Amino acid sequence: MDQLTKREFLKITSLLGAGAAVPAITAAPAVESEDATARATITPRTDLVDEHFTSNSGRHFGSQLIHHGEQPGYQVTPISQDKAAPGYQRPGNLRNPTVAALLRKVMEMEGTEAAVGGPCGMSIISQTYMALLGPGDRVVAHQCNYDWVMTLFREYLPFWNVEVEFVDMTAPENLVESLKRKPAKFVHWEPYVNPTMEVLDTPALIKIAKETGATVIVDNTWLTPYLLQPSRLGADLVIHSVTKYMGGHGNAMGGVVSGKKELVGKIERAQNWFGGVFRPMDAFLVTQGVKTLPLRMRQHCRSAQMVAEFLQSHPAVARVRYGGLPAWNQNAESATLKGFGGMLGVEWKKDAVHRDLGRHVKLILNATSLGDPVTRIVARREEHLRGIPPRFTRVSIGLEEPEDLIADLKQAIEKCL
Ligand code: PLP
Repeated sequence: MDQLTKREFLKITSLLGAGAAVPAITAAPAVESEDATARATITPRTDLVDEHFTSNSGRHFGSQLIHHGEQPGYQVTPISQDKAAPGYQRPGNLRNPTVAALLRKVMEMEGTEAAVGGPCGMSIISQTYMALLGPGDRVVAHQCNYDWVMTLFREYLPFWNVEVEFVDMTAPENLVESLKRKPAKFVHWEPYVNPTMEVLDTPALIKIAKETGATVIVDNTWLTPYLLQPSRLGADLVIHSVTKYMGGHGNAMGGVVSGKKELVGKIERAQNWFGGVFRPMDAFLVTQGVKTLPLRMRQHCRSAQMVAEFLQSHPAVARVRYGGLPAWNQNAESATLKGFGGMLGVEWKKDAVHRDLGRHVKLILNATSLGDPVTRIVARREEHLRGIPPRFTRVSIGLEEPEDLIADLKQAIEKCL
């Protein structure tokens, strides 16, 4: 068998399911067969190692993030709550060993030179802009971002005399036009957009923005560095709400911005008077979550693909929005994504399903947030300006078996009709 291309391999593993692929490759056969030799050739790709990812140790992404960044002598860096040195919980987060373990792992995963954390994703986004912007500056952002980022951009930045222009970045030429008309200090987007599920062409957008000298800020919360590493493509700052997939257990909150040393240094300094610092207890919990990120993301990708395909075939559904569905996403190749994670959206044919589904699900939670082991749904209101369609439900696929999720959705949809 010829060496598989990465895309062929991914197709096969997603069809088999991650759980099926790993034992097939790692189990040592009693007798060396031609087939076994062929399978061995794809071993290094079992954790979807990013071809850009390099570590000083030469280890794979998944191995490296288990070991990297821990306090010397510890497998699990303890929770250092002590305010006496070396743990006073002020910025210069790398001085606190518990927070440092997490920040070092984020830097290693994203390939960035510096990082600073805050108490939630929104906190680190606000601190980033408040530290780096001044009156008269201009920001260009995609027309849809996470809700509170929209509020920050629509209400607060203009209040400080910062101009914000929203453009439809699903067509990268719109960004070219905007920056040609007037250069911007910052360009901001989410590669897989909350909640519209648009897949933006991140490499192309980075190139366009950098050519005009803008600073690129990418919110990589939804894809995580397991699926995309924007800094290695040229982004200046990469933001994570680690409340979501990075922590992955729905038990902690935090935010991390990592990237160029000079920019992160300014945010870290400003944090002395903003005061929104990362708490060691949360950093401890998130760090344990990070160690299983590849395993969880593989399962999120696999389950979301199966549920998306089920919903796509359901007569109550007008359209499913998931990055892994060619009918929705034409942009997979150019976005260089290795998968699309656990987020998908459903446009229903009837108001009743949109309105009542949350009352009828049994296993699935009818609640906001995302990236947890539990599957959640949220019915969204139509917002034309952001591209949120009518009768739209956002789904965060958790770690339950996809067959159970499909059964729950099936029975809940029937009750709505
Ligand atoms: N960025 C994205 C893409 C999000 O989806 C969210 C929350 O859903 C945030 C940032 C904010 O994160 P947090 O809830 O930790 O403040």
